[in-house]
Amino acid sequence: MTEKCGVVGVSLDGRDAARPLYYALYALQHRGQESAGIVTHDGFQQHSHVDMGLVGDVFGEGDLDPLAGSAGIGHVRYPTAGSVDTSCAQPFSVSFKSGSLGLSHNGNLVNADEIRDELAAVGHAFTSDGDTEVIAHDLARNLLEEDLVRAVKRTMGRIHGSYALTISHDDTVLGVRDPQGNRPLCIGELEDGYILASESAAIDTLDGELVRDVRPGELVVLQEDGDGFDSYQLVEEDNTAHCFFEHVYFARPDSVIDETLVYEARRNLGRKLWEESGVETDVVMPVPDSGRAFASGYADAATETTADGEARAEDDDGVEFAEGLMKNRYVGRTFIMPTQDERERAVRLKLNPIKSTIEGKTVTVIDDSIVRGTTSTQLVQLLKDCGAAEVHVRIGAPEIVAPCYMGIDMATREELIASDKSTEEIRDAISADSLAYLSTDAVADVLGKERLDLCLGCVTGEYPYDIEGEETDRDVQRPQLASRQLSADD
Ligand code: SF4
Repeated sequence: MTEKCGVVGVSLDGRDAARPLYYALYALQHRGQESAGIVTHDGFQQHSHVDMGLVGDVFGEGDLDPLAGSAGIGHVRYPTAGSVDTSCAQPFSVSFKSGSLGLSHNGNLVNADEIRDELAAVGHAFTSDGDTEVIAHDLARNLLEEDLVRAVKRTMGRIHGSYALTISHDDTVLGVRDPQGNRPLCIGELEDGYILASESAAIDTLDGELVRDVRPGELVVLQEDGDGFDSYQLVEEDNTAHCFFEHVYFARPDSVIDETLVYEARRNLGRKLWEESGVETDVVMPVPDSGRAFASGYADAATETTADGEARAEDDDGVEFAEGLMKNRYVGRTFIMPTQDERERAVRLKLNPIKSTIEGKTVTVIDDSIVRGTTSTQLVQLLKDCGAAEVHVRIGAPEIVAPCYMGIDMATREELIASDKSTEEIRDAISADSLAYLSTDAVADVLGKERLDLCLGCVTGEYPYDIEGEETDRDVQRPQLASRQLSADD
């Protein structure tokens, strides 16, 4: 699995926005490593610097100075829809009759092609195959007829899917979250202005204070003097559809999403994992770094109760938490290796076991997910080669049985090991002594949400959006574009 994208926007009182945006993008780098960019506006004209690569590669010292203006937006991208080249790198910027627009998008529209066809039929020329340009063109068209707030509302009534957007309209910066709040977006206060960002870690980096999450269906407009922000609740839905994988995998552990510190959520998921499927072994160890918080919570819960749920005797310390696998931080993610053979070799390059922690011991190894099963198979083999007496695998999330259409580059259904295999068949395939996943009810419980307020599409096969050929878990309909009648309050 690869992260989606990170978005940011700031409006400051007189100070140039480029450098704070640059630091914020560094804080969001884990959300996308393919391209990075910043668009600013100085009150007269828009400035843009966007290129392929990591933030540190895209911006040299001389690249920030020309980005004048105290308002701007930024983006780091991992491609989910559209090509892997500069035509889809963001922020997307465009000038049109009533000003200039910059747009940063995290998420994925499921009806982008319909809107693109409709706009192309009335003369809009597209330079990319990405869905961000579709939103930008739709908004630009609506801005010719409406004020800013009504134009955004009209666009929100036409696009269907997941989106957290930061938008610059001349020197006004806006943030929008889709009506079900699938992707995160939060507001922070800085010493001399306000910031919108995918994760609160970006606010921390700028010494700011997290104010709150942008609400699902809300438009937030940062005031141009950095003095505050205005809020417009443009769309309201009965249920939200927060991506539960943000808490499990994507977000930084030091970010706060939906008022919950991600690290704490992961530890609590680990505690649940012990309650649901704990196994008494000599040691429990994380797959670094993804399994660390889960393993810490799991081991912590194991000091209090036995695997059978009984209170632990005073002289029984439970399962020892140990770091038994060391990660080589200079190897890229195995998932971006193009062939299966290269992926398999990459696991051995990435993880090295500590023999003294493992040899002759029964081991529980904890991770956050199993996608194709390649990593888990290699890992179990690695531990057994190192002399582990038993290897038990515990996963801090339910089985991934279906792909993601909301902006996560996961794998195709055929590639997902759990799409057609039972837990026992997967255990057998990865040669573990036992295997257990966390239940979806446990996830909802730990996150303090009703199941219907979460997106669980990839683990249930039922999605919160109307996706062609897939089931939905709620009553949703994609907008009927051609037949849509604009109402008076649009
Ligand atoms: S399908 Fe899975 S990864 Fe995608 S948004 Fe839903 S929960 Fe998140």
